[in-house]
Amino acid sequence: MPLIVDSHQDLAWNMLSFGRDYTRSVYETRKAEIGSATIEHNGDTLLGWPEFQQAEVALIFATLFSPPARWAFSWEKYLYRNPKEAKIQYRQQLDLYNRLSDENPEKFRLITSALTLEEILDNQNNAKSAQAEYPIALILLMEGADCILDFADLEEWWGLGVRLIGPAWAGTRFCGGTKEPGPLTPDGRKLLSIMAEHGFILDLSHMDEPAVLESLDMYPGHLAATHANCKDLMPNYEINRLLSDRVISGILERDGIVGVVPYNTFLLDGWLIGKSDREEVSIENLVDHIDHICQIAGDAQHVGIGSDFDGGFGLQSTPKEIDTIVDLQKLVPSLLSRGYSDEESAAILGGNWISYLNRNLPAS
Ligand SMILES: [Zn+2]
Repeated sequence: MPLIVDSHQDLAWNMLSFGRDYTRSVYETRKAEIGSATIEHNGDTLLGWPEFQQAEVALIFATLFSPPARWAFSWEKYLYRNPKEAKIQYRQQLDLYNRLSDENPEKFRLITSALTLEEILDNQNNAKSAQAEYPIALILLMEGADCILDFADLEEWWGLGVRLIGPAWAGTRFCGGTKEPGPLTPDGRKLLSIMAEHGFILDLSHMDEPAVLESLDMYPGHLAATHANCKDLMPNYEINRLLSDRVISGILERDGIVGVVPYNTFLLDGWLIGKSDREEVSIENLVDHIDHICQIAGDAQHVGIGSDFDGGFGLQSTPKEIDTIVDLQKLVPSLLSRGYSDEESAAILGGNWISYLNRNLPAS
């Protein structure tokens, strides 16, 4: 089986909001949550460490994420009312990932460079050939940049291991975001220029299109969309959360990657969370989005998977063939049946992100 890189999981947000323990299996978590409000708010989990092993997950982009109070659901206690609170919470999540990796080094390891990525991949390969379990690599992705109080803080976040930053979730003082359109602000432009000096990868996922288009022109560093699908396959989807062909072309021209999301609302036009039937959506719909990006690119090297599993939706809102993250491997026969080679399928499941990070992370 090809290895999987998942470029978006809100692990810390789940641990803090719902008390989820990702060292457990999907089925242990589901059993423990039967009848709880967690299922109502975030669906049944799709993630757990034994399933990461079974799926051959090599690397996860682990987010620092908290919603601003104005967009939080009434049940959410974990939210921020101002940038200072955001900073406290994002630091808390960063500490949590450090603890997770310090206390369970056999299960999770934080990586920050091409060297540490290579080391963990070697470690995983050796373990696999001995049929032993292996630690999953985590790389830190800041989703929403309100926690950056001062531009000088970027040096601190870099030193703490953050390697990707998405300036927006909803809008921030840096740029327009999901459901809060707007361009880059003067602060946003300054943020980008200092991010590039440090070497941060820019995550365009939640940025509003004018901000994305300007960033594609002016961001001198590396960029990607860790979790987003294709707007042109979803003409009736009205929220500014999907990528137009113009944006996708721009990302490809900059040698970026798009991580596609197996979330039914982003896969099938008109599918509504909590209302529509998951049986209406198939993994083939996800392959449509993958194929759309490959057709624009003219190759299979600029697309990956950013599942966003457990990030506000669960089992109930994924394609019918998916029970856990293990089922992402079902993409392989679908891709092969559409004419993709074994090598291309493996690249899409994880290889593309690995080479992207090898090119774009600091060497050591
Ligand atoms: Zn997101």
